[in-house]
Amino acid sequence: MFVDVAIIGAGPAGIACAIQLKHQGIEFVLLESGKIGGMVINANFVENMPLLPPLSGKEVVKLLIEKLKYYDIEVINTLVTSISKKENIFNIGYSSGSLCSKYVVIATGTKPKRVKSFEVSSKVVYEPLKLFGVSGKGIAIAGSGEAAFDAAMSLSKSNRITLFAKHSTFNISPRLLDMVEKSENIVVMRNNPIEKVYEKEDKLFIKTHFFAGFYDNLLISIGREANRELLSTELLSDKRVYLAGDVRRGKLGQMSIAIGDGIEVAQEIVADLRKNR
Ligand SMILES: Cc1cc2nc3c(=O)[nH]c(=O)nc-3n(C[C@H](O)[C@H](O)[C@H](O)COP(=O)(O)OP(=O)(O)OC[C@H]3O[C@@H](n4cnc5c(N)ncnc54)[C@H](O)[C@@H]3O)c2cc1C
Repeated sequence: MFVDVAIIGAGPAGIACAIQLKHQGIEFVLLESGKIGGMVINANFVENMPLLPPLSGKEVVKLLIEKLKYYDIEVINTLVTSISKKENIFNIGYSSGSLCSKYVVIATGTKPKRVKSFEVSSKVVYEPLKLFGVSGKGIAIAGSGEAAFDAAMSLSKSNRITLFAKHSTFNISPRLLDMVEKSENIVVMRNNPIEKVYEKEDKLFIKTHFFAGFYDNLLISIGREANRELLSTELLSDKRVYLAGDVRRGKLGQMSIAIGDGIEVAQEIVADLRKNR
């Protein structure tokens, strides 16, 4: 298969790019290894999108999928494993084959910072989504950023949450902090980072310097980093390789920025294609 543009990742950035390219009549493929919609599905409440009312992450993903349907855009469900370039053409290798393109858009988002010593069983997860079906359980969360507090809110609807934080003050929105502090199902353990995790009798035994207890699950939410695994230094400086969304913005990543990035790179590609015709 040969297309003008290969978009890798169908989160908000990749989807926005695909919609804009479709709108402009450019041929592309959209490749996604996981679920359509990316990381935003984990959000308890998205309130900062100027043109939308407050929505849950799930509702946001529903809107994104509806938009893909409206434009009749297909998402190929596959993991992209390699990108190489020969004579100005990119070869994109993925789990079930390969394709060629003139341009590549990397919209692969972020990956979690891992604590390998805590990964003692499948009860330890990095994404709240993995625990969305769980209820009546005791869930520990390691982390003290916006994502950890947001996950505490989502999961506390049907579980008891203990949030183990390294510090006593937090760099999060005052509104979110207020909601967490008012929740009867959430305990925030300040100055209490998790030191050890063991699996014992079908439970997780979690130890800090001052405390020890049993939990059903542990969510590790201590930050994320740009997912640039597919990018060599050579590709990063290639004028026909574009980065959009969290993979470009890192810590500053937000959904509206990702959407803006997707549209911006699509417009740049359209301009370049038309110039070279
Ligand atoms: C708990 C939580 C709450 C949030 N709340 C808000 C909020 O209220 N407001 C807000 O603006 N933002 C919020 N965000 C941030 C928002 O979700 C991200 O900024 C946005 O999802 C970034 O979009 P993206 O497309 O750049 O990356 P992502 O959403 O991470 O999407 C990247 C996609 O690429 C796919 N991918 C990666 N590698 C490959 C590969 N090799 N092959 C194929 N596919 C691949 C991934 O599976 C993923 O679907 C929140 C995030 C979290 C985690």
